[in-house]
Amino acid sequence: MRPENLFGSFAAVTVLGGIGPRIGKLVAKAAGPHVADLYWHLPSGIIDRRFTPKIAAAPEGQIATIAVTVEKHYPPPRYRRQIPYKVRCRDDTGVLMLVFFHAHQDYIEKTLPVGATRLVSGKVERYDDEIQITHPDYIASPEEAASLVAVEPVYRLTAGLSAKVMRKAVGQAVARAPDLAEWIDPAYRAHHGWSSWRDALHAAHRPEQAEDLDAGSPPRMRLAFDELLANQLALALVRLGARRRPGRVIAGDGRRRNRLIAALPYRLTQAQQAALAEICADMAKAVPMIRLLQGDVGSGKTVVALAAMLNAVETGAQAALMVPTDLLARQHYKNLTPLAEAAGVTLALLSGRESKRTRETTFAALAAGAVDIVIGTHALFQDEVQFRDLAFVVIDEQHRFGVHQRLALSAKGVGGADGGARPDLLLMTATPIPRTLTLTAYGDIDVSRIAELPPGRAALETRAVPLERLDEVTTAVGRATKAGARVYWVCPLVEEAEDLDLAAAVERHAALEASFPGRVALVHGQMKTERREAAMAAFMAGAVDILVATTVIEVGVDVPEATIMVIEHAERFGLAQLHQLRGRVGRGAKPGTCLLLYAPPLTETARARIDIMRQTRDGFRIAEEDLRLRGSGELLGTRQSGSPEFRIADLDVHGELLQAARDDSRLIIARDPGLASARGEALRVLLYLFERDAAVRNLRSG
Ligand code: ADP
Ligand code: MG
Repeated sequence: MRPENLFGSFAAVTVLGGIGPRIGKLVAKAAGPHVADLYWHLPSGIIDRRFTPKIAAAPEGQIATIAVTVEKHYPPPRYRRQIPYKVRCRDDTGVLMLVFFHAHQDYIEKTLPVGATRLVSGKVERYDDEIQITHPDYIASPEEAASLVAVEPVYRLTAGLSAKVMRKAVGQAVARAPDLAEWIDPAYRAHHGWSSWRDALHAAHRPEQAEDLDAGSPPRMRLAFDELLANQLALALVRLGARRRPGRVIAGDGRRRNRLIAALPYRLTQAQQAALAEICADMAKAVPMIRLLQGDVGSGKTVVALAAMLNAVETGAQAALMVPTDLLARQHYKNLTPLAEAAGVTLALLSGRESKRTRETTFAALAAGAVDIVIGTHALFQDEVQFRDLAFVVIDEQHRFGVHQRLALSAKGVGGADGGARPDLLLMTATPIPRTLTLTAYGDIDVSRIAELPPGRAALETRAVPLERLDEVTTAVGRATKAGARVYWVCPLVEEAEDLDLAAAVERHAALEASFPGRVALVHGQMKTERREAAMAAFMAGAVDILVATTVIEVGVDVPEATIMVIEHAERFGLAQLHQLRGRVGRGAKPGTCLLLYAPPLTETARARIDIMRQTRDGFRIAEEDLRLRGSGELLGTRQSGSPEFRIADLDVHGELLQAARDDSRLIIARDPGLASARGEALRVLLYLFERDAAVRNLRSG
C-alpha cells in the first residue's frame, strides 16, 4: 500500500484548482497524469521581470517591466471588434501603447484609469514606430507592485496549454508537496549542503537566475540523487529478493564442455574463454547468479552460452535459452543441434509455433527430464512448462525484453521452479553498455565482456553515398545478386509517421521488384508475424535475393550469404542502430559491403555518425562515440528496449551521484534489508514517490 502521506501526490492533476478534465488531459500530456508528475516537471527556462527600463530604452522582443502613467484610452469604434483597444501610457522618456484585442472595455477602464501610475510587464514590440506591449502579462498598481513575481519559471508545454495555466498547476502541486522524513544519509546530505526534499523541490521550481536551471545546481542535484537512490535501491531489493532463496552450486565435471570444444570447427577466442570461466566460477557459487554477458554482434556469445548450459547439464540439471522471436529460436535450434549432438545432450525447441502435439511431447519431455536444453521464446515461461530440474537460464538479446520483463523475470524466479533453488541467470546483449548504464538498468550486476571478435572476419567496407546516386546503387546491387550475393535494404522508421515510412518501404520494394522481378521480399512491423517470418525465411533460404525491410530486421539473425547492407536515409539512424544493422553482414568468410545512402545536406552530428561508421567496426568504440554524440539518455535505445528513463537525473552530469547511490543502497541493504528502521521507512516512501512500488512489494513478499 502506498503511504498515506503520498495520497495527494498520486491524485489526478484535476484535483488542482482550475484544472478541469479538458485542461487536465493537456497537463497530463505535458507532464503526466498525477500531481507528483508536476513535481518532476522542472522549469526549462525563466522569465525575468526584474528588468525595468525606461520606455525609450526598452529593447524590442524582450520582457520588460515598465512604470508608466496612463494617459488616454482609444476604444475601437462600435462593431469593429477586429480593431484593438489601445491605451496610451508614458514615462519621462516616451510613449508606450498597450494593445488589447477583443477587450472588455469595463475591465480596461477599471485596471487602467487615466492618470494612474501602473507597472506593466510583457514583451516589448515596435509597430509603426510605436513602442507597444500587446496584452501585458501583468498590470499592477503601485500597492500591488511588491507582490509581482520577479522571476517566473517557464515550463515545457503542449499545444493548447498556456504557460500561465501550467505555471499555476505546477505551483499548486509543489505547494501541496508533503513534508517527508529524510531518507538521505545525514552526513552525505550535509556534505553536499542539500536542503530537505520539500525545500529542494520548492527551490528547483523557483529559479532566480539562469544558473538555477543547471543540472548541477544544489536543488536539482538533490532531486537527481533521490531519483537515482530510488532506482538503485529498487534494483538492489529485487536482487536481494532474488538472492533470498538459496542458489545452487553448479559445477559440472567438464565432460560435455570438452566434447563441445573438440567438435567446434574453431578455437574459442581468449575473450570467449575468459567470459566462460567467469560465468562458470559464478555458477559454482551458492548465491543465485545474475550476470550480463556483453559482446558485440558476431563476437560469439552463443557458443559461450551453450558451454555454460552444458556446465549445468553436466550436473544432471536442465538449462533454457530464451530469445525474443520465433525465428531466432529456430535459428539457434538449427545451429546448436549438431553441437548438442556432439556434446551428447538433448535439445528441444519451444517457439509457440509447433503443433499442439509436438508441444505436448516437449512439455512431457521437459517435465521428465528427457530434454537437457530447451530453446524458445517467452512461451518458455508459461505455466504449463514444467522442468524436472531447471538450474540455468540464458536470455539472449535481453534488451528486447524491456526493463519490466527483466525485473519480473529476476524477481519471480525464472522457470516457475518455486520453492526450490533459483536458477542462475545469464543475460546476453550485443549493445555495449557503459558501466553507468548497466548500473541504472540492472543495478549492481556482474558483467562479462567479450571485447574481441573471432579472427578471420571478412573485410567489411562501409561507404556513404548520396541518395541522388540511387540508380547506380540499384545497378550495383543487381550485379552483386547475379554473382550470388544477398542484400538487405533497410528503409528508415521515422517516429510519428509510421504510415509514411511504410509507404516508403512499400514503394522501394515495388521499384526494386520492377528491376528484379520475383527476387525481392518485403518485411515491416505491421505485417502479421507469419508473413514476416515467411519473407525472412525465403531470404534465408535464398528464394529471394533482396530483403527490403523497415528497421524490424531481426536482431541476431544470421544469413551468411547476406553480404550487402543498404541503409536508406542513414542520416536518420542513431549510431548504435547503424552498427546493429551493419552487423548483419560481413559475419561469415565473405567480405561485406555496407552502403549508407544519405540525403544531403548532412547535419554535423549525422556526418560525424557516418564518419565513425566508416572508420570502425568496433562496437565498444562506437558505443563510446555514441555516448559522446548524444549523451547517455538514449544509449540503451529507448526505441528498442524501454530503457530506464530518469525524469531528473542526467547521467552526463550526475554520474558521480549514481555511484554514490549504488554504494548507499548496498549499505542500506546490508544494514537494514527489510527497510524496518526509521530511515528504512523513509526510504520506502522514496520508492513509492518514484513509483518503484514493485520493489517494495518484493520486500513484503520476501
Ligand atoms: P553473437 O555474439 O552476435 O550472438 P554468434 O554467437 O551468433 O554471435 O557468433 C557469430 C558467428 O561466429 C557464428 O557463426 C559462430 O559460429 C562464429 N564463432 C563463434 N565463436 C567463434 C570463434 N572463436 N572463432 C570463429 N568463429 C566463431
Ligand atoms: Mg546472438
